[in-house]
Amino acid sequence: MSDTEIVQSKSEEASSEFVEDGSNKLVVKCKFCGSKILEKKTGKFVVQEMNLPLMHQDTRKEGELQSEKITEFYHVENMYTFENIGFTLTVDNYKYLSCADCDAGPVGYYDMNTKHSYVALSRVEHA
Ligand SMILES: [Zn+2]
Repeated sequence: MSDTEIVQSKSEEASSEFVEDGSNKLVVKCKFCGSKILEKKTGKFVVQEMNLPLMHQDTRKEGELQSEKITEFYHVENMYTFENIGFTLTVDNYKYLSCADCDAGPVGYYDMNTKHSYVALSRVEHA
């Protein structure tokens, strides 16, 4: 049982150059292979704190999954909104999202309770 609560807040002054009218201004792509993940304007920009495992784990350190705190995400309510997306690990009530083509990830996570997805701005390419 997880009591993790995700507090969402709409950011009126989105600091990101990638956000326009509260959603992604540009196409969201995989940083590594360029595969398209989201079409323009399909993800809603949200600010929330969430720990995501690092894309490159230090394999010299065994056991613990290394993660970092990420605060800027695109909120996608329906999985079918994605152009391409895959799943990697499942931890508690979350499935981590990865590139469907090259498996790079996690680029975000899927909340199994709400069935909503969140893509980290810092983990993707904007084009
Ligand atoms: Zn890729």
